[in-house]
Amino acid sequence: MLEHPKRGRRLRQAPTSAFASSLSLHFGTGHQYPPTLTPTLVLVPAHRDNFDAQTKALLARRAGDRCSKPDCRAPTSGPSLLPAGAINLGVAGHITAAALGRPRYDPSLTAPQRRCIDNGLWLCQVCGKLVDSDVSRFTADELRQWRAAAEAAASRELGKPVGARSHFAILEHTLTGHTNYIWDVVVTPDGRRAISASNDRTAALWDLANDLRLCVYRGAETEVCSVAISADGGRVAGGCLNGDVLVWAVHRPEPLVRFSHGASDAKVAWLGGSIISGGQDGYLRLWTNDRLRQEDLVHEAAILKVAPLGSGAIATASEDTTIRVWALRDRRQLRKFTGHCGGVNSVAIADGVQGRCEWFNGRHRSGLGSRSWPPGACFRGSQRSRVAGRGGC
Ligand SMILES: [Zn+2]
Repeated sequence: MLEHPKRGRRLRQAPTSAFASSLSLHFGTGHQYPPTLTPTLVLVPAHRDNFDAQTKALLARRAGDRCSKPDCRAPTSGPSLLPAGAINLGVAGHITAAALGRPRYDPSLTAPQRRCIDNGLWLCQVCGKLVDSDVSRFTADELRQWRAAAEAAASRELGKPVGARSHFAILEHTLTGHTNYIWDVVVTPDGRRAISASNDRTAALWDLANDLRLCVYRGAETEVCSVAISADGGRVAGGCLNGDVLVWAVHRPEPLVRFSHGASDAKVAWLGGSIISGGQDGYLRLWTNDRLRQEDLVHEAAILKVAPLGSGAIATASEDTTIRVWALRDRRQLRKFTGHCGGVNSVAIADGVQGRCEWFNGRHRSGLGSRSWPPGACFRGSQRSRVAGRGGC
């Protein structure tokens, strides 16, 4: 804000922006004699530590020529009507401003640091304007996260066909109500509801479309660490830290059945009308209601996930670093996958194109990446010689 020297009247300063052009507008008297009551408009080149053309082009390319705002990602370049022309709708903005008085200005930076590419972010013009208009909402740290995510996405998508690209996940719903960690979640067969297992000693049924908690399943004496929904969607099984397995009717909070896996940290899945449980003891047990039908020692350490594959087969992920596939009723191990150097926390099965089936698993503790393996592949040895064959181990 500037104050008029003669009339004591405050005049609005021109809007400033980290994404603005290199000229700014200043009101002043212009030192005219005799003094006039009408302020004159003077264009004063503001001192800005602007990016050079090479830096701007590099920022655009590093973002894949897309806006870096996670829920936008709009393309920023395309053809003009002229056959030799192109249109750019992107702006290279400063994460901390290029000039004093502008958004997120950091006085501790030197001029070369302000115009360094590390201080840049590629956005579409709409997002550039938004980011500078609401400075309290968009902090420098958040903008740095956008840039890192946008460049990671551009790197992942580089050279891949459009259909194979992964896109930014867009948050549609946040379901709240649990009062402690959530360990497991499954989606009902109709895709409309989800069931969660929590450290708050409950499981819960959620309406995904309307953000509603429809039922809280009670009766667990310790943390609920695993849940599964029956194929008909009518029953929910929960595995507990103390080894208890509880079964609920889908809309009823009190359990119908309670029994114990026999060891702590029970993990559960449905196999037809039966429940399969795994736990710290490495045993896989098959139950109908609370009656034990079959038990087999299948892992050398704790079972951390049990996943049904259909057609009666079961996949198990274990602390012993392996994933194994079982024909449980035949008591046969069909497959054994090795290659992880730590316990395997989870395994899920996805149908791929042309009936291909892939096995995905998360790496214990590191949380870095995942691996997908073709059905029947067996992996041994070092990273570079992991594919040892197909058709069983
Ligand atoms: Zn945008």
